[in-house]
Amino acid sequence: MRRVVIISTGGTIASRRDERGASVASDGVTALLERLPVALEVPVEGRDVCCLGSYLLTPGDMAGIVREIHRTLADDSVLGVVVTHGTDTMEETAYLAELVHSDPRPVVFTGAQRAADVPDTDGPRNLADAVAVAADPAARDLGVLITFDGAVFAARGTRKTHTGAPAAFSAPDTGPLGGVRDGVVSLGARPVRFPPLDMAALDLDDIRVDAVTYYPGADATVLDAVHAAGARGVVLAGTGAGNANRQVCAAVERLTAAGVVVALSTRVAAGPVAAIYGNGGGLDLLAAGAVPTGVLRPSQARILLAALLAQYRDPVRVGEELARRTGTSYGARLDPCLAERNS
Ligand code: ASP
Repeated sequence: MRRVVIISTGGTIASRRDERGASVASDGVTALLERLPVALEVPVEGRDVCCLGSYLLTPGDMAGIVREIHRTLADDSVLGVVVTHGTDTMEETAYLAELVHSDPRPVVFTGAQRAADVPDTDGPRNLADAVAVAADPAARDLGVLITFDGAVFAARGTRKTHTGAPAAFSAPDTGPLGGVRDGVVSLGARPVRFPPLDMAALDLDDIRVDAVTYYPGADATVLDAVHAAGARGVVLAGTGAGNANRQVCAAVERLTAAGVVVALSTRVAAGPVAAIYGNGGGLDLLAAGAVPTGVLRPSQARILLAALLAQYRDPVRVGEELARRTGTSYGARLDPCLAERNS
C-alpha cells in the first residue's frame, strides 16, 4: 500500500509532564497519530525508533535515525518519510540525513514547541502538515526538509531560532522554500544541494569533533584541551564574520599543523564567514589553516565536518570537501603526509 511512514524519536511533540513537572518524552507514534487534528488524505504507518528529548541524542543516535530512514525508503511503496524529533537538535539530524540522502522521495522532519499534554499543543498540526508535504509530488527531489508552523525549509541552513515560539525555525540566509496550510503545499524555491556522501559518513561513533566559541579575552586553553582530548575536528565560532585574537589564531595554527581540521563559523545569526581582518581575525585564521564554512552555523558545520571525517579521514581531503560544500575557498595548508598518520 502506498503510504507515508512516520518515524518517531521523541521530543516535545511526544512529551508529558512527570510528577515533578518536568516535561519528558514518553509518547510513541500511536499516541501521536491518535491526536491528529484532521483526517489525513494519505495512509500512514508509524514506527518508533526511540523516545528521547533531542538534547540527549548522540551523533550515533542521529546516525541510527538516518539509517532507519534509509531502511524505510528501500520499500518502493513508501511515498515519503516523516520524522518526529525534538526541536533542539533537529537541525543536526535533518542535515545529517540530507548529507546522505540519495532518493527523490522527501524526508520531512517536524516536532512541537508545546508538549503533548498542553491544550494548545502545536504537535498534531505540525505532524499533519509534515505528512501532507511528504506525500506531495512537488516535494520530490528537494531532499530533507523541516516543516514547522506552516513553513517548509530545506534542512541545510535551517536552525532553531526561537526557544519558545511556535515558529521555532528559520533559515536566516535563504528563507523558507514554501509553506503548507490545511493540507495544501506550496513550494516556490529549490534548495542548494550537493552529491550525497556514502553511508560511511554515518560512522560517527569514534570521531571527536568539538565546538569552541571565541569570546573577548579568550585564550588558547579550550582549543589546546580539545586537541589533547583527541579531537580530529574543531568548529570555531568566531565573532562577526569569523574573527578571534592572536592567541586563538596561534592555537589554530598548532592544531591544523597537527592534522586537526578547524572549521571557522561565527556566532552571528546570518551572513557568510569572510577573511577580512588581521590581528587574529578571519584573514589570519584562514592563513593559519582554518576552513571557512560560508553560511553554515556551528551546529551544522559540526555535523558536516564529522561526516566528512568519517567518509574521507584524510584531513586535506576533508578540508577541501568542507570548503566545496560550503561554497568557500581553502588554502589547503594541511600537510598531505598527515593523511596517513590520521587515517
Ligand atoms: N525543546 C525540545 C523539543 O522540542 C526538546 C528536545 O529537543 O527534545 O522537543
